[in-house]
Amino acid sequence: MRFEDLKLIPSILKALKDKNYTEPTAIQSRAIPLILQRKDVLAVAQTGTGKTAAFAIPIIQLIHKIESKSNGKPVMRALILTPTRELAIQIEENIEAYSKYTVVKNTVIFGGVKQGKQVDAMRRGVHILVATPGRLLDLINQGHISLKTVKVFILDEADRMLDMGFINDIKKILPMLPKERQSLFFSATMPNNIVKLSRQILKDPQKIEVSPVSSTAETIQQYLYYTNRTTKKNLLSHILKDEKITQVLVFSRTKRGADRIAKDLKKKRIEAAAIHGDKAQNQRQKALSAFKAGQIRVLVATDIAARGIDIDKLHYVINYDIPNVAETYVHRIGRSGRAGEEGIAIAMCEPEENDFIKDIQKLIKKKITVIKEHPFPQTDKPMTDAEKKEWNKEKQRRKQEFFSSRKKTQSGGGGYGRSNRRR
Ligand code: AMP
Repeated sequence: MRFEDLKLIPSILKALKDKNYTEPTAIQSRAIPLILQRKDVLAVAQTGTGKTAAFAIPIIQLIHKIESKSNGKPVMRALILTPTRELAIQIEENIEAYSKYTVVKNTVIFGGVKQGKQVDAMRRGVHILVATPGRLLDLINQGHISLKTVKVFILDEADRMLDMGFINDIKKILPMLPKERQSLFFSATMPNNIVKLSRQILKDPQKIEVSPVSSTAETIQQYLYYTNRTTKKNLLSHILKDEKITQVLVFSRTKRGADRIAKDLKKKRIEAAAIHGDKAQNQRQKALSAFKAGQIRVLVATDIAARGIDIDKLHYVINYDIPNVAETYVHRIGRSGRAGEEGIAIAMCEPEENDFIKDIQKLIKKKITVIKEHPFPQTDKPMTDAEKKEWNKEKQRRKQEFFSSRKKTQSGGGGYGRSNRRR
């Protein structure tokens, strides 16, 4: 299948050529014709499948066809809701690229930054608005945005929206949309609460499902190092001695863990940065831009922060810890080898995580290649139940100690700005 077979207008085909897209991905070849026919669509697809272009391209085409005849100020025709700022920015960048030869105007709004420029952009008029729920509601409540003219509503990453606690925001937004509209619903997974939400939004939807979560793992070469908890740091720098790894995304389960890993690498003179939910928006954006520009070799991210990262040709992903939910592993490694690119995923497993590896191998239905020859082999045994209990108590104690020392610093005027809580 070629993009030309999807009845796309020349101005979009030209933009796709500029992006060097040669053929549509599976979700694109299935979703684009349905959306152009103005059907409601329920799509089960994760990041990396080309889902953004799957909804962006037909929306741009539908709007261009109508609006190219109008001379007035652009009127909002499509609203795309997405959970994180990173995703919002990337969707907007994609729309900008695909629509550059059309009349379609778009903008993006998200929290954590001053609203002035966003309000100005809305005042000038847009056809497509990409938004995170919190800031959208803020600007609606202040009278800067009305959803009355929206013809197409897109809910992106619905499962992540609910995970992040946006259900109430979504419930407030839905009644503000016209009843007569086209709706598109994208989610990586379809648990019951998502199915329920989709029923409130969609009318007689066409369902599309591409590459169920376990199958993305097939295209990626996966390696596994067994090691001890205490030797992980050293193992990571050992792995990074391989100069072929010019850019790598390292996953950490916790925000503090991500900071620690980045700090340790920097101490060893390896350029690294951490991104997670406690970092201010501009810090995250700066780290991401530096990584994309090749100035930072290692980007350490938590699962939620990484969800929004769209980096072309990311070959390497390292699981610094092994997630206890096997699907998370598949999502993580899916960040390498995007859109047909080759990918290599490396996992570092400490004794407590040995069981998680078993779950993962069951889900992906294959054995991960174990690298046996390395200087930091696993010599410790997993903890017994009694030891685990003791360890959990100790962790609790350390946490309390940490927070009470933080409080002291705060009351001493230090201050921990959590300016980016609102999305
Ligand atoms: P997404 O699933 O929307 O996050 O897209 C994943 C990546 O694939 C992005 O970097 C897109 O720019 C890229 N991409 C999307 N569609 C295509 C295509 N048809 N051919 C090549 N790359 C694509």
